[in-house]
Amino acid sequence: MSEKFILNAGTTDPNKILPIKYKWARTHYKNGVNNNWVPDEVNMQKDFETWKSANGLTDDERRLIMWNMGFFSTAESLTANNIVLNVYKNVTNPECRQYLLRQAYEEAIHTDTFIYCCESLGIAPDDVYNAYNKIPSIHEKDEFVVNMTKSIMDPNFTTDTLENKQKFVHDLIGYYVIMEGVFFYAGFVMMLSFMRQNKMVGIGEQFQFILRDESVHLAFGMDLITAIIEENPDIWTAELKSTIIENIKRAVELEIIYAKDCLPRGILGLNAEAVSQYVQYVADRRLERLGLANVYNVENPFPWMSEIIDLKKEKNFFETRVTEYKSGGSLNWD
Ligand code: MN
Ligand code: FE
Repeated sequence: MSEKFILNAGTTDPNKILPIKYKWARTHYKNGVNNNWVPDEVNMQKDFETWKSANGLTDDERRLIMWNMGFFSTAESLTANNIVLNVYKNVTNPECRQYLLRQAYEEAIHTDTFIYCCESLGIAPDDVYNAYNKIPSIHEKDEFVVNMTKSIMDPNFTTDTLENKQKFVHDLIGYYVIMEGVFFYAGFVMMLSFMRQNKMVGIGEQFQFILRDESVHLAFGMDLITAIIEENPDIWTAELKSTIIENIKRAVELEIIYAKDCLPRGILGLNAEAVSQYVQYVADRRLERLGLANVYNVENPFPWMSEIIDLKKEKNFFETRVTEYKSGGSLNWD
């Protein structure tokens, strides 16, 4: 039997999932399934009342919600398209493909979340979906990812050559590490801050579910990228590494511009400086995971985010989720 590889599985049967070589792909798949949820499970009644009431939220809080919905609503479709149209085609290993199918479904759930939020809060869809066109700091983030993942959009793209394998890894880092691993994180910390202040708890819960899915997407992406590099060590050149570092640094700049736009004044125990520092902290974790040196060396200004993401994920988070999903009760993470 010929050995399995992530790319160019042409010599093996791409449909033959057993025996599984990449156990991490299976683990992420199982974690995704255990984390099953749909937006309609979350009661939005209280959010609706707060949203409709004249003094339920300040103008700054209202804008923060609209902008984050605006960014995420289009970003979710962008990642879904990347997975289905590009990644799936080039990652020919069947256990990785099984995970990609699961991830694609989760991206559909995330897209559905913003449909559900618009409907339950009575927000005009154009006010959310036009953010991409109207708000420069959102447009720039999306454009950055679109441009970074252009080469593999070519229908004739293959991973046959060393140069194209480098392009593929470069683009995978574009959407797993930069889009899902950096560009989502200022938004996550802002939206989860509402929950911590006991405001707009329904939409906060929706973002918490998305965060937990995304942390699995990111973990899969990192395993995928590092496995491709291990199998093709000659692609990981000093030049590619420095391009990746520059891309991540630029992404951090764009995310900081976005955070400053969203938070012209401090609200909800947040300010643009702390969110910027959080983005830098997160970017260093991504660089480390890729075996690259830290750039920022800053403390995590929001240790409670790590608690949500790192501590509960492996241990009680999935178990908690499953129990609560079965009981159908309201969700309480703390
Ligand atoms: Mn998503
Ligand atoms: Fe995702």
